[in-house]
Amino acid sequence: MNALAATSRNFKNAARILGLDAKIERSLLIPFREIKVECTIPKDDGSLVSYVGFRVQHDNARGPMKGGIRYHPEVDPDEVNALAQLMTWKTAVVDIPYGGAKGGIGCTPRDLSLSELERLTRVFAQKIHDLIGTHTDVPAPDMGTNAQTMAWMLDEYSKFHGHSPAVVTGKPIDLGGSLGREAATGRGVVFATEALLAEYGKSCKGLTFVIQGFGNVGSWAARLIRERGGKVIAVSDITGAVKNPNGLDIDELVKHKESTGSLLNFNGADNMDPNEVLIHECDVLIPSALGGVLNRENASSVRAKFIVEAANHPTDPEADEILSKKGVIILPDIYANAGGVTVSYFEWVQNIQGFMWDEEKVNNELQRYMTQAFHNIKNMCKTYDCNLRMGAFTLGVNRVARATNLRGYEA
Ligand code: NAD
Repeated sequence: MNALAATSRNFKNAARILGLDAKIERSLLIPFREIKVECTIPKDDGSLVSYVGFRVQHDNARGPMKGGIRYHPEVDPDEVNALAQLMTWKTAVVDIPYGGAKGGIGCTPRDLSLSELERLTRVFAQKIHDLIGTHTDVPAPDMGTNAQTMAWMLDEYSKFHGHSPAVVTGKPIDLGGSLGREAATGRGVVFATEALLAEYGKSCKGLTFVIQGFGNVGSWAARLIRERGGKVIAVSDITGAVKNPNGLDIDELVKHKESTGSLLNFNGADNMDPNEVLIHECDVLIPSALGGVLNRENASSVRAKFIVEAANHPTDPEADEILSKKGVIILPDIYANAGGVTVSYFEWVQNIQGFMWDEEKVNNELQRYMTQAFHNIKNMCKTYDCNLRMGAFTLGVNRVARATNLRGYEA
């Protein structure tokens, strides 16, 4: 099932549980605005090349729309639509005053030079500058984009509208980025995991963890788990997988990855078959790479007791059912990976205030938001007798529906 079908299905289940009026349900599902623009740039050799850029603005009932911009060859309108919708529910789950959006350009960033990427970003910003803004729609980096991309977007936007640091988040610190943003999603994953484990009288200390994906989110989560006494016994990335039943030394593994470009052949671990990672025995499995990795082919073989969805949409609905029947507890993506957008919100607040927070304040506030959201999800689970995914969806959808109703429908 593709991401849009799966997200819409979860939304519809939540709408049914909440008893939403069919007209509100329909209006919440349809995006506020879908933008598609042609971006033509001269390549370094003088030839012209055209790309298609998208921005889907899903909902703004609770505040400016918020979501990443991804540069990837497989950016397609359906996926952008699904991810924009997920952002609407995610920002509502952690109760930050935003709606949801997502964007992207269908391109292969590694095939473009830095100056070609800059031109492409500037053309995209020129095409959408009237439709984004500090109080309208606030982009951020996503797959294939980074702080530099946001710096170019900010510069291009500011040519039309004056200096506007809060128009994008995930910026370099020198341009108003927030301390703590780089680690925020991984740190949020760990705060979410701690809140979940506490429900079962457990903590990270002494438990075993397996992490698929060792990029920004996976490597930060791994480091922070180890700091808390958890044993990360296997990790994988696109280059392969390694394991050590006594726990990997994550700081050394990061250094090894940086120096060799690969996880494999790490002194202090054995190489393992990457296909075994998701079904490796552990207490907590943290998929932190791709969508759809837990599916009907492998779900029944999963041996973790808890799954924390750091990646977006790692569990497809068929796997969700199989895992639930097996008694595996799943902490859903719209909550578990919300730490990144939460610290993006802190960045936006700091830019608007013109006042920079220290990192301790950022991390403390992040913990407060993540912990509060977990308790609110649990309350929904109790009220509606549902699992954590539906607890999170009902929490998010209910908040957006309430805001929509309060604003009214008069033209
Ligand atoms: P990243 O590009 O930094 O890292 C991705 C990692 O996945 C890399 O280690 C890569 O090697 C690995 N990978 C790719 N294909 C793989 C495969 N087939 N098997 C195993 N590993 C594979 O990306 P990221 O920012 O860490 O994001 C990871 C996930 O978290 C994505 O699903 C993303 O949408 C989600 N997410 C990220 C953020 C954020 O702030 N970065 C926020 C919310 C959600």
